[in-house]
Amino acid sequence: AHLARIADVDGDLNAFLHVSEDDALTTARQVDARRAAGEDLPALAGVPVAVKDVVVTEGMPTTAGSRILEGWVPPYDATLVTKLREAGLPILGKTNMDEFAMGSSTETSAYGPTRNPWDRDRIPGGSGGGSAAAVAAFEAPLAIGTDTGGSIRQPGAVTGTVGVKPTYGSISRYGLIAMASSLDQAGPVTRTVEDAALLHELIAGHDPRDSTSLTGGFGSFLDAARSRDVAGLRVGVIEELEGEGFAPEVRARFTESLAALERAGAEIVRVSCPNFRYALGAYYLIMPSEASSNLAKFDGMRYGLRVVPEDHPTAESVMKATRGQGFGAEVKRRILLGTYALSAGYYDAYYGSAQKVRTLVQRDFASAFEKADVLASPTSPTVAFRLGEKTDDPMAMYLNDIATIPANLAGTPGISVPSGLAEDGLPAGIQFLAPALADDRLYRVGGALE
Ligand code: GLN
Repeated sequence: AHLARIADVDGDLNAFLHVSEDDALTTARQVDARRAAGEDLPALAGVPVAVKDVVVTEGMPTTAGSRILEGWVPPYDATLVTKLREAGLPILGKTNMDEFAMGSSTETSAYGPTRNPWDRDRIPGGSGGGSAAAVAAFEAPLAIGTDTGGSIRQPGAVTGTVGVKPTYGSISRYGLIAMASSLDQAGPVTRTVEDAALLHELIAGHDPRDSTSLTGGFGSFLDAARSRDVAGLRVGVIEELEGEGFAPEVRARFTESLAALERAGAEIVRVSCPNFRYALGAYYLIMPSEASSNLAKFDGMRYGLRVVPEDHPTAESVMKATRGQGFGAEVKRRILLGTYALSAGYYDAYYGSAQKVRTLVQRDFASAFEKADVLASPTSPTVAFRLGEKTDDPMAMYLNDIATIPANLAGTPGISVPSGLAEDGLPAGIQFLAPALADDRLYRVGGALE
C-alpha cells in the first residue's frame, strides 16, 4: 500500500530520491513467513520505514542530496539501519534532503526540492524535508531523520508530524555521513508520539563503532508516551524564544498548547536563557568548521563523482574540478566559512569564541532545568514558507533554526509535536526540551498533547 501511495504522489512531492521496492517487498514477505510460523517478532516488524539519504544503506544509493555522491552505493549499513533490518522493518527507500543536511527547506538538494503535502507551493522544512513529507503524505508510516541544528524538529513542525532529536550519543552515528560530528544525531519522524517512542527505543543503544556513543540510561519511551501523565510536571517557557520574530498564530497555538497542559495538571513557569541569543551565531561557526573538515574526504578519488579535466589531468586538478562541480552553492559557502573560521589568525576570535558560547548555552540549560522539568517554545518561528521565498537570503534561512539550535549545542534532547493550524491553515509545532538522557519526559509531555 505504501509503495502504491509513493507511485501515486511522489512524482509531485519528490520526497524520495530512491525507492527500494524489491528490498522492501522481500523483507515484508520474510516477516509474513516468520509470523505465519508462529515466531514472536519485534513490535515494529513488518512496518515500513523511509530513511534520510544521509544514512548509508548497503546496496542502496546514498547521495546526501549531493551530486558529488551520485552513483555511490555503500558497501555497508549504518548501525541504525542494521537495527531496522534485524527488527524486520521493510526499508521503502531514501528520502530527499538539503545537500549534506545544510538548509531548512530541502531546496539545496541537487535533485530538486521536496514539496510540502499541505500546500505544494511551500517548503517541507529542512534539511530532512523528504522524511517529513513522506510521513505527512502517508507514503511512509515511519521515517528516520538527522538533526544537527533542527533538521528533524523544524520539518516536523511545518508538516504537522512528530520529530525527535534524541540525547547526543544515544543513537549511533556510525554510518551517518557526518555534517558536524559534535552536533549530529539521528532520530524518528512519525505521525504520533507513540510511534516515535517505539522507533526511538528500537534504534537507541551503545555502539562500540561510535566513539561518542553512550553506554546506558536510554530509558523506556513507550510507557512514558502512553502514560500521558503531566500532573505536577514543571514546563518552563523560554522567555527568549516566544516573542519577536515568531508569527502571531504560531504563538497563539503555542499558548493554547500550554493551556492544555495546564488543564492536565502541569505547572507553567517562566525561565530565562539569556545566552540563547548567541546560539545561532555560535552554531554557524561550529557547524561549518566541522563540516569543512568532514567534507574534505570528498575528493573525487574515493566515492561517487570524479571529474577529470581533459587538458591537465593531475590529482590536484581532478580534486578541484570534482569539488567545483560536485558541491552546490550552500555547501561551498559553508566550507569557506568553516576554513576561514579555523584559519590560524582567526581561530581564537571565531571558533574559540563560539566554543565559549556553547558552554554558556549549556549553563543556561542547567539553571533553567533547576526551575523546570522540561522547557518549551514554538519549534519554528513561522509556518511553511513558499518555495524560493528565502533561497537568495542565507541569513533569513538560518533564522528558521533560532529555537532548535540550542539543544544541539548542549547535546540535550528535543521533540516537536503539532500544536494546531496557524497562518494560512498550515501546521505549527511546539517544541519541548529535556535534560540529557531524560528523553522519556519528552514522550510524557508530547503524549499528553495528542
Ligand atoms: N537548518 C540547519 C542548517 O542549515 C540545520 C541543519 C541540520 O540540522 N542538519 O545547518
